Amino acid sequence: MKIVVVGGVAAGMSAAARARRLDESADIVVLERSRYVSFANCGLPYHVGGAIKEREDLLLQTPQSLKASLNLDVRIGHEVRGIDRERHTVRIVDLETGREYDEAYDKLVLAPGAVPLRPALPGIDHPRLLVLRNVEDMDRIKSLVDAGARSAIVIGGGYIGVEMAENLRERGVTTDLVELADQLIPPLDRELSRDLETHMTRHGVSLHLGAAAVAFRDSPGQIAVELADGQVLTADFILLAAGVKPDTTLARAAGLELGPRGGIKVDRHMKTSDPDIYAAGDAVEVTDTVTGLPSLIPLAGPANRQGRIIGDNLCGRDSVYTTTQGTAIVKVFDMTGGGTGASEKALIRAGRTYRKIYLHPSGHAGYYPGTAPMHMKVLFEPDGGKLLGAQVVGFDGVDKRLDVFAVAIRAGLTIFDLQDLELAYAPPYGSAKDPVNMAGFIGSNLLNGDLHLWYAEEFPARTADGMILDVRGPQEYEQWHIPGAVNIPLGKLRSRVDTLPRDTPVYVYCKVGFRSYLAYRVLRQRGLKSVATLAGGAMTFQSVHNR
Ligand code: FAD
Repeated sequence: MKIVVVGGVAAGMSAAARARRLDESADIVVLERSRYVSFANCGLPYHVGGAIKEREDLLLQTPQSLKASLNLDVRIGHEVRGIDRERHTVRIVDLETGREYDEAYDKLVLAPGAVPLRPALPGIDHPRLLVLRNVEDMDRIKSLVDAGARSAIVIGGGYIGVEMAENLRERGVTTDLVELADQLIPPLDRELSRDLETHMTRHGVSLHLGAAAVAFRDSPGQIAVELADGQVLTADFILLAAGVKPDTTLARAAGLELGPRGGIKVDRHMKTSDPDIYAAGDAVEVTDTVTGLPSLIPLAGPANRQGRIIGDNLCGRDSVYTTTQGTAIVKVFDMTGGGTGASEKALIRAGRTYRKIYLHPSGHAGYYPGTAPMHMKVLFEPDGGKLLGAQVVGFDGVDKRLDVFAVAIRAGLTIFDLQDLELAYAPPYGSAKDPVNMAGFIGSNLLNGDLHLWYAEEFPARTADGMILDVRGPQEYEQWHIPGAVNIPLGKLRSRVDTLPRDTPVYVYCKVGFRSYLAYRVLRQRGLKSVATLAGGAMTFQSVHNR
């Protein structure tokens, strides 16, 4: 069997390597347009920033090492320009010599990845406007910084834009970040990304949110970008990180079916509409685990796993790829944020009903040094509590909670199940009641009716009919409180219950939601009928209202 793979990085190389491990006799050719195969694209920003010192550390393999270890015929600098499905051949150009030739295949694997979005704006081809997709792009950016570039503008506040802004700051480059949406990391819900934005600003990145770039032009020795509000920013270079779209050039020209979102359409075996052509990675459309909708989710984990599944299927096994839940994480200086499953806005778009909770547990036991509260949001079904999504932003222990939620969602667990998870604990790592257990307790209380929540976004319109009760201490209240709130510290509440109105709702809050929950239990058992506690307390309120 002759297998030809187009694209020699995440999905393509996974498919080729797996196929070799299962079939020693297969003839496997990998064609890669760039000069590098199997490189660590996720590590590129960190070499620019200096955290990854050696460039070679990003270059995981070479054609020679792949020949030696896996007997793969890897041809770098070779671009596939077309597919002849009738003849079962691909047309290839050797980019160094210009030689064109055909290569026959029995099975073809398309793993061409994604291409950066380049909006059709005036000046978009300016030489100081760069993108970051591969090693050559990284070299270009790094050499500018090494040569003394002092200022940069990043267009796009998604994962790559944020990582690059951080790494440019780490090199002392004055950095502006322009994002069209009114938040960083648009896959997260806005109140969670607020915490990351505050942190970025603290670290010297100038954020321009809800700002559209409309034109690029020359500025003496620099480049300028004009924003829709008329503001003009100038810098030594601009990094365009405005998102990616699936590279479907070959698939489209070959008449392969595309999905509704514009990615290559594949079945559960990663097979395209042609039974002899498979596709994987950023170029394909996947089914979203939670919403069930066709989606484009360009991430390294799914790409690698899809490639491996193709390798299986090429060698006669029956492996299926089910869905992608979009588990993603980003480092923002010493902060971490990420999500898994659906966000609240994705659920709204999909027309799904849900319940949500917020909490701010510490990454590990508060009495052991080096922890801080994290901001956690968990979404689940109102009936039965099946988990739909989780987002976490904080300092320590964010990644491990995200991964527990990722597994829980994949396993179809409910918010009730989270109460029973037995998770690793010693004071430097967690708490006896882990933050994930705590989410289970709060969510279960909510669905069982032991807790009634009100939400920050309901202020002021929907809270105007009642009394807002702050149960924190007087000093906390002095420092900041929700406008119009009355302060009765939790310790004094029992003696002052009779002063509270019985015929209007009482909206209780504290810093994170724990004291207000205790207050809620007191008030309900003392006969007040309409009481609710603020989800996530003042901390979530401040993120929602940007205070
Ligand atoms: P790629 O890995 O991009 O490989 C596609 C290859 O195909 C390219 O090398 C391209 O040159 C080649 N190619 C395309 N067309 C042809 C052709 N016609 N002929 C020959 N070769 C061709 N994901 C995460 O999950 N976590 C991260 O932290 C993360 N960080 C990232 C940081 C950066 C800077 C970038 C660029 C991406 C990051 N990603 C991250 C995304 C992740 O790298 C991709 O989702 C993943 O690499 C997709 O794999 P792929 O095989 O589909 O495409």
